[in-house]
Order: sequence, then C-alpha cells, then structure tokens
Amino acid sequence: MQGIGRPDLSWPCVNRGGRGSLIRLETVPVLDKELALSPKSARALTFWQARTGQIVTLIDPEDHYCRGRLTAMTDSGASVVLFAQLPGPVESPLQITVFQALPEKERFELVLQKLTELGVHRIVPFQSQRSTTLQERDALQRKSHRWPDVLLRAARQCRRAMIPELGPVTDWSQVMSEAKATQLALLLYEGKGQLGLARALKQTQPSSLSLIVGPEGGFSAIEVAAAEERGVVTVSLGPRILRTETAAIVAAGVCQALCGDLAE
Ligand code: SAM
Repeated sequence: MQGIGRPDLSWPCVNRGGRGSLIRLETVPVLDKELALSPKSARALTFWQARTGQIVTLIDPEDHYCRGRLTAMTDSGASVVLFAQLPGPVESPLQITVFQALPEKERFELVLQKLTELGVHRIVPFQSQRSTTLQERDALQRKSHRWPDVLLRAARQCRRAMIPELGPVTDWSQVMSEAKATQLALLLYEGKGQLGLARALKQTQPSSLSLIVGPEGGFSAIEVAAAEERGVVTVSLGPRILRTETAAIVAAGVCQALCGDLAE
C-alpha cells in the first residue's frame, strides 16, 4: 500500500478527503459477522456522511480491501457487517496530484468527478495568467461550494476507500512549491517539440507525481519558462489540442495505466 501509506505533507485541504477518510479495521475480518469499528474509523465515516445501511469500502490490518454494510452509527461508535473481500486494492500505489487552472462553466465539476474515478489522490484548482478567477466563476454560477460534494459522490459511486483531497483555489507560486514536493512534476503543454507524457513516465517510474493543466487559453510563455526553471518537465499529450478537462482526464489515465493501477 505504497501510495496511501506514505507520510502526509499536509497541504491545505478544503474537504474532508485524504487519509482521514480511510476506514480501517483493527482485526482481520470474518465475513458476515458484525464488527465494532474504532473511534477513528467511526470518525472517518462522518467524512463519508455515512448512515446506517450504507455500504462502504474498508481496509483490514493486512491491507485487504473489503465491502461492508453499516449496521449501527451512534455517538458511542459504529459497527459493520462485511460481505465481500475485494480482489485487490482500490487505492492506487501512484499518488497523483492534479493542479487544474480554473476552467469555465461545468468543466471543473467534470474534472473532479472523472479524476476521482481514475484514483487521483489530490486535486488543486489554481488561477493562472489566462484562467478565469473564482470570483468571476462564482458570479456566474456560484457552484464552488458544491465541489466537495461532487468528490464525495464520485468516491462513493466508484467504491473508493479514500475521498480525494481538494486543495483551496491557489496561485502559481503555491502550485510550484507543492508540485516540487512530488517525485515528478509535469506541466501539460501543447507547444512543439515536447517530450511525450508516456516517455517522461517511463524514464522516471515515479510513485508520486504532479500534473499541471492549463486553462482554455493555455499557459503563457512566461509561466512555461518559470516552471521549467523550477525543474518542472513540460510534456505533450500528442498532436491534437485537447480541451482542458480532456487533457486532465487523459493525462491522469495515462499515468495510472503506466505507473499505477489502471488496466493492469
Ligand atoms: N492555448 C491553446 C490554443 O488555444 O491553441 C489550447 C490550450 S488547451 C485547450 C488547454 C490545456 O490543456 C493546455 O494548457 C494544456 O495544459 C492541455 N493540453 C491540451 N492539449 C494538449 C496536448 N496536446 N499536449 C499537452 N497538453 C495539452
């Protein structure tokens, strides 16, 4: 369980995602028998807004993933009946953080949903030189308050054991600092002569990486140069210009397929 076992650098998080949302069992489970959950796991259930009768994904002390139905949730504790052991982990050994320049319209909601399904660990919206601002976006739609809920619903639907972390809307310098804390920091750039994403991954075989995705209008030359100066690698997704949300989703899929757990 490389990915979710590593120490957390504790970057700011505006939802109740991350390791705190993992529901861990303290004993090796027996199927179809009611088990009491530890106070820590009972707390994690509140992150999932879980109710009695709901089905959740849990991790046992031997790192096996299982599915169980909550049989009780009270102030004094919670219990569960496990009914299935999953064939393997649902959390990827590859920790992906996606920095997404704030897109317009419903695109960010789509990005949140699909990146959750793809097993991304952390998603951070940011303001770039050519992106919209949160204020402009919310003036039209007022939807940013719904982002944590989009992540929660998607995580439940695809049976994840962890809700991805959502970072606060941040700026370029914070993106650079956070991205540099992962083993490989990649900026998706449609300019000519870039290294292909697949090749960059094969060269490094990272266990943690950052993907920095530009807005509808792309990154400015100044942003690209500044990133390269900080050691961020610019990579291509091929000859076609993808929409920003397509780029984020495709890049995360390629990373999971080559270094993580997609279509193994
Ligand atoms: N400025 C560009 C233009 O109008 O020609 C398009 C920007 S694209 C719609 C939005 C973002 O998606 C880019 O900033 C980049 O991060 C990513 N992207 C799209 N296509 C890409 C490709 N072929 N290779 C790498 N990144 C790509």
